[in-house]
Amino acid sequence: MSLILQAVENIPLIQKGDDIADIIFKNAPDIADKDIIVIASTIVSKSLGLTFREEDVVPSADAKRIAALNGKDPRFVQAVLDESIEVITETPFMLVRNKNGHVCINAGIDSSNVGGGLLLKLPEKPDEHAAFIGKAIKQKTGKKISVIITDTNGRSFKSGQTNVAIGLYNIKAIRQWIGEEDLYGRILEISEEAVVDEIAGAANLVMGEGGGGVPAVIIRGLDFYTDEKVSIKDMYRDQEKDLVIRSLLELKNKK
Ligand code: GDP
Ligand code: MN
Ligand code: MN
Repeated sequence: MSLILQAVENIPLIQKGDDIADIIFKNAPDIADKDIIVIASTIVSKSLGLTFREEDVVPSADAKRIAALNGKDPRFVQAVLDESIEVITETPFMLVRNKNGHVCINAGIDSSNVGGGLLLKLPEKPDEHAAFIGKAIKQKTGKKISVIITDTNGRSFKSGQTNVAIGLYNIKAIRQWIGEEDLYGRILEISEEAVVDEIAGAANLVMGEGGGGVPAVIIRGLDFYTDEKVSIKDMYRDQEKDLVIRSLLELKNKK
């Protein structure tokens, strides 16, 4: 088996209103069946006009309190609160669950690769945006393609960040191994492979985090296409079953 990771070249600096599907199609005309198109959330957000100025945010008392704990700007903290449905840790950094259920630092609000002194939010409904872009590319090419929208996240337990999936179209989040045999005929009982995160991580080897200008990567050689309705939420663990989040919330509530 071999896998090809192909940068989509010549993508411009994305502006509000830009047609991401059309830009990818024009710069990657040889898209084939089963290709997986990995797209950095940054350009999806830019096309949706999700930039804002910190100066325009009015901080609440709560934002001021958390900002003082962390040495952050209260307006930035307010922006994070506005994007969050739950604050899991307030300090020394804000780990939150965003409106789509994704758990990450600062609700994914970022200024890198944005320009103009602006901040950028994550897309609010990343599955819908993945489907919108994917359907448009499917229509232009006639090919059965999948889309993964990604963001770069830190992880518990280890230093270093990796790209993870935040929105899906035509690819299941998890590859089931439960019930399959291992090398020695033993039945696997708990193995569920988070393939969309693995693919996101692989694509980031081509994207990078800096000024490389590669926000889209085409992955060829995998067999993960599905027509079924999928959602990134399929891989978000129930809060009650998540020992780490429960423990962090307990800690926060003790303070
Ligand atoms: P994130 O992981 O979604 O937050 O995105 P990053 O800021 O890490 O950027 C991922 C890749 O996309 C990097 O190669 C950036 O240089 C590139 N990138 C970000 N915005 C643009 C853009 O508007 N146009 C182009 N061509 N590349 C961009
Ligand atoms: Mn980001
Ligand atoms: Mn990144």
